[in-house]
Amino acid sequence: MLGEDWVVGNEVAPPGVNINVPHSARIYDYWLGGKDNFAVDRAVGEAMIKAIPGMRYMAGENRKFVHRVARDLVAEQGIKQFLDIGTGIPTRPNLHEIAQRVDRSARVVYVDNDPIVLVHARALMISTPAGRSEYVSADLRDPQSILDEPTLKDTLAFDEPIGLTLIAILMLLADAEDPWAMVEALRDRMPSGSCLAITHPTADFAPDEVNQAVSAATSAGMTLVARSHDAVRRFFGDWELLEPGLVPVSSWRPDSAVDNPEAAYYWAGVARKP
Ligand code: SAH
Repeated sequence: MLGEDWVVGNEVAPPGVNINVPHSARIYDYWLGGKDNFAVDRAVGEAMIKAIPGMRYMAGENRKFVHRVARDLVAEQGIKQFLDIGTGIPTRPNLHEIAQRVDRSARVVYVDNDPIVLVHARALMISTPAGRSEYVSADLRDPQSILDEPTLKDTLAFDEPIGLTLIAILMLLADAEDPWAMVEALRDRMPSGSCLAITHPTADFAPDEVNQAVSAATSAGMTLVARSHDAVRRFFGDWELLEPGLVPVSSWRPDSAVDNPEAAYYWAGVARKP
């Protein structure tokens, strides 16, 4: 339906955006209090909140992790360039804004495959004069197509460490699609000193709640997979996990003490390529 607007009820969607099928970027936007979501997204989003009452809190904790990682990778690991796959609808501050607060020359390439994110891409490309941020429409299921993107080659230097961020995206790929191979293909191309940051929802802390939320999503036609610590650990391959390891998202270098780190059902970690 590219090139035509969808109209369902009184809702109008941008070209290419199908609002008859719920979509992860828009459900997540709904949890975070954004306006870029439609009735189908809100229905699934609410069904998932019914299963996991702390869902909005979880989404917020996931965003806060992005902030801490961007800051630490620039300040501590000296990383000045990022490849963020599964960017989502822009949420301020975005990754490049955090990175450029620490180093104004930081560069970020954002990648997403959803047309609604593309609609907002301009907001992601407002950079400091010294830095740069770009947006590429591409699919994680074809890692080579991402790596071959001229914009990516033009923006990132492959002889300097890169911060590869896969934040709350891998759960949207089924085991049968072998997301581990996709991540490996990306890892292989990263220069030494690069870091990979991942967050991933898990049923390890609250199996009943999470399994119910997954059912709500899958019965609406989405792919959503909660994964164990071991399954998430494998995404990092032989890279070395930075302190404090693969931990509940709220426990990854928190800015202040956290009462119950297992209240946000995500594993989170950052590893460095030797
Ligand atoms: N990383 C952001 C947004 C997470 S929502 C954050 O954590 O705040 C997941 C995003 O991944 C959505 O925007 C969705 O469109 C995108 N996505 C899902 N599957 C994808 C794929 N195969 N390739 C690229 N992007 C994908």
